[in-house]
Amino acid sequence: MSLPLDGKRALVTGAASGIGRATALELGRRGADMVLVDLTSCDAIADEITALGRKGVAVEADVGEEVHAHEAVQRSLADLGGLDILVNCAGIMRETRLLEMSVDEFDEIVRVNLRGTFLMGREAIAAMKRQGSGGRIVNIASELAYLGRAEYSAYCATKAAVLGLTRSWAREFAPDILVNSVAPGPVDTPMLGIDNMTAEWREKESDIPLGRIGRPEEIAGVIAFLAGPEATFVTGQTFSPNGGAVML
Ligand code: NAP
Repeated sequence: MSLPLDGKRALVTGAASGIGRATALELGRRGADMVLVDLTSCDAIADEITALGRKGVAVEADVGEEVHAHEAVQRSLADLGGLDILVNCAGIMRETRLLEMSVDEFDEIVRVNLRGTFLMGREAIAAMKRQGSGGRIVNIASELAYLGRAEYSAYCATKAAVLGLTRSWAREFAPDILVNSVAPGPVDTPMLGIDNMTAEWREKESDIPLGRIGRPEEIAGVIAFLAGPEATFVTGQTFSPNGGAVML
């Protein structure tokens, strides 16, 4: 039986944890071979991809470093024979009041969330253009790009910027490369720290029409749709799996 992503080569950043990990597994289940990029070792997830009968290549890299981004894409070309799908999922979130935020902290959030997305996107799109067979980019933003959040201004700003990159790249590289964003609401991952869920988070859950925060697999399904054969007329869009918390 053929699978929707049979023969496709994907690169997922932030693949060691949370939404990135769930996405890697979902793309693997749908037939893609994969390069798995993270600061943390992706060996375990690469083994899971291999167990699905696909190729999984683990690369330890910092998406905010130009050389690392270049090398990660080169690994896809060398080990998988090309690159068809990039999922920019690596990210960091920090809670800091504006008046207590140092320039270094601000810069680090921008470096990972925005510069990392830019560097990985630039490398991947260059490779896809040389390849000449199109491609898909899925950038992970956040519903906080729209809502803003007190004490998370740098994070919110980078996620709003990711939407700007997405729409601009979608126009610049149409019709060959389709570029979309996914802007999730709160999802149960280490980033959210649900083990330490505060009363504030519980209250937020009750504000979500579907009454709960999301699971990583529920975001991965949307990402896999955008990477797959059913999304051929979709570019420059933002999909918002958020339980109905934001309705645009
Ligand atoms: P997560 O579980 O913390 O996973 C993020 C992964 O990115 C971690 O493995 C992290 O490694 C890695 N990473 C961080 N900086 C990196 C760098 N410079 N280079 C390479 N890898 C790096 O978080 P998540 O919740 O799955 O988040 C995934 C994406 O979804 C992020 O972009 C986040 O902003 C977005 N998002 C999350 C939520 C949510 O509620 N969870 C909601 C909306 C959007 P380390 O652990 O070693 O730092």
